[in-house]
Order: sequence, then C-alpha cells, then structure tokens
Amino acid sequence: PLILGLESSCDDTAAALVDGERNILAQRVTGQNDEHAPYGGVVPEIAARAHSERLTPLVEAVLEEAGIALADVDAVAATAGPGLIGGVMVGLVTGKALAFASGRPLIAVNHLEGHALSPRLADETLAFPYLLLLVSGGHTQLLFVEGVGKYRRLATTIDDAAGEAFDKSAKIMGLGYPGGPALEALAKTGDPRAVPLPRPLTGSDEPHFSFAGLKSAVLRAWQQDDPPAAADLAASFQAAATDCLVDRSRRALVRVPEATAFVVAGGVAANGAIRAALKALAAEFGLPLVAPPMALCTDNAAMIAWAGVERFRLGLTDPLDAPARPRWPLDPDAETVRGAGA
Ligand code: ATP
Ligand code: FE
Repeated sequence: PLILGLESSCDDTAAALVDGERNILAQRVTGQNDEHAPYGGVVPEIAARAHSERLTPLVEAVLEEAGIALADVDAVAATAGPGLIGGVMVGLVTGKALAFASGRPLIAVNHLEGHALSPRLADETLAFPYLLLLVSGGHTQLLFVEGVGKYRRLATTIDDAAGEAFDKSAKIMGLGYPGGPALEALAKTGDPRAVPLPRPLTGSDEPHFSFAGLKSAVLRAWQQDDPPAAADLAASFQAAATDCLVDRSRRALVRVPEATAFVVAGGVAANGAIRAALKALAAEFGLPLVAPPMALCTDNAAMIAWAGVERFRLGLTDPLDAPARPRWPLDPDAETVRGAGA
C-alpha cells in the first residue's frame, strides 16, 4: 500500500509517502528550534500555530516530489497522540480532511507506535518479537513488541525521560536548545570519569528508569565554586545516562529470552556513545542491535506512514471521528507509574 503520513505532535512538522516495499518516496521535516529557543523548551501554543501554517504545504511538497496525486494514496496516516494536544489536533484534522477529500481511509497512529515500528521500516529482516528501548524527549520505556498493536511495557521512567535529562543538563550548561546533540558533541572532548555522578536505580530489583537525580547532580556540580570543565561534565553525564540505559535494558533482556533482536528507537538513539554501549549489551545476549538511521530516530513522518502501512495491511483503519489523545499508552495494561508520561 501507498501511505501518506503526517506528524505534528511536538515541535517537528512532517509529511512523508511510504509504500509497502519500504520505499520512502518523499519525506519532509521542518523543525521549530528557532521559534522555541528563546524559551529553552517547546511552547505548545507556538508549536500548534507553526504546524497549522506548515503542514499543508509540506503535504503538497511531498506529493509533488514523488509525482503522486492525492487520489493515488491508499490511506492517510496521521499522529493522533500522545503529544501536545494543539499540534496533534492540527495533524489529525488535516489527515481527516485529506482522507475525506480522497475517499481513502484514515489511520490514527500512536506516535509511540511510529517510533516502535520504525526499525522495521529501516530493516526488512527485523521480525517479531523484539525488545524495544524507546528513548526520546518525552519517553524512556522498555517494550516487548510481539506484533503490530501488541506491546507489553516492561519499564518506564519514574521521573524525567532520558532526552529530557539531556536537554535539561545542556540547558544548565548553557548549551542551548535542543540540548542532546550539543551535549554529545561537547562530550567527545571531555573525560567521562572526571565528575562522579549518580546512576539512579541501577542494580535495583525494580524495572524502571530514573533520571531526575542525575540531572540534579549535574546542576550541583555546575554550581560549585570551582565547577568542572563543561566538556568533562558533559562526558560524565553522558556516561552516567548510558550506564542507566544499559543496566535497565540488561535487566529486561534477561526476562525476554524469546526476543530475536534488541532494538533502540527515539531521538536519544541518535547518540553515538549510547548506540555503541547498547550494541555491546546486545552482543552479550547474542542478539543484533537494530537502530534506525538518525533521520528515522527523531520525529518524522516516514515512521508514521510506515505504522500506517503495517496497520493498513491488517485492516486497521479508523473512523473520521477518531479522537486526538494527549495521553495514549502503547500498553493499556501497564500500571501507572508516578510521573511517567503517556
Ligand atoms: P516523544 O517521542 O517522547 O514524544 P520527542 O518527539 O520530543 O518525544 P524525539 O524527537 O524522538 O522526542 O527526540 C528528541 C529528543 O532526543 C530530545 O530530548 C533530544 O535532546 C534528544 N536527542 C537528539 N539527538 C541526541 C543525541 N545525539 N544525544 C542525546 N540526545 C539526543
Ligand atoms: Fe517522538
């Protein structure tokens, strides 16, 4: 099937065309870093307005680039949550209007399912079941992925997401927004053993992640009378965050021996040091580490279109009154954890 995908749940506006053979016929993403940078984080109202200005022209652009008419798509897949509700509504309503105008079905995609299935767009050999580490700006979860729509959440964060910890630590050190890529670049020139930092919950019996204490320790270190060099603090933070991700993932891998691969997705998966550590961890279990290319890790519409392909094949389409959902857990059976996002 040929699917048009739309994404607008945070601060990236995106449209893409993807087919059932994993071809990305066209994709466009426009970020809003300049708009939000003065505030040091995403301002929902500004994001929603920017999406409403940009999304339809992006759809026009990808259709034109691919030489495809709207009538030729088999379905329109739009992110319906979780995320900032104003932006989600812009994308979902645009998707509904395009579905209605083209007479094609709507597929209301969970943004997290987009991240969860994106490795299958990049790697045709990736089969179910797999253990997924979803690490992004809003989420840090370990999910056992048994099939499309079959997700068992094994762990989540009890406070901040890993990407949030990168962004907040970068902000503390004055690295600007978004902080993850800037912090990684700075860490390359620093000593990861220079500043002793905590690794919350590592070695613990409970399955979850915690990053708030790590971020607070970065703040304390930075505010000392004699603060460490920024590069050393960045490298030390990145090493601590990596240790947390590895330790919690190892605990989960032990519990899902059926997994055929260890998969990492979400914006933080763009981090080279983290990828390398996770690859070594997967090797401990004799598993491949599957990580999508960088452009598919951060928010994009190709992953939403691909989730649309997977759902369309199973006949999973949605009515035009599908709701926009600010919160939408992938695993509805997962217990609520204090402070844990969707
Ligand atoms: P969610 O998907 O949970 O709704 P999101 O869409 O904001 O959140 P993504 O776009 O998947 O998240 O990822 C953005 C996050 O990834 C930001 O927190 C950013 O700092 C982080 N990130 C991006 N590149 C890197 C990197 N190289 N190292 C560390 N973190 C990074
Ligand atoms: Fe995301």
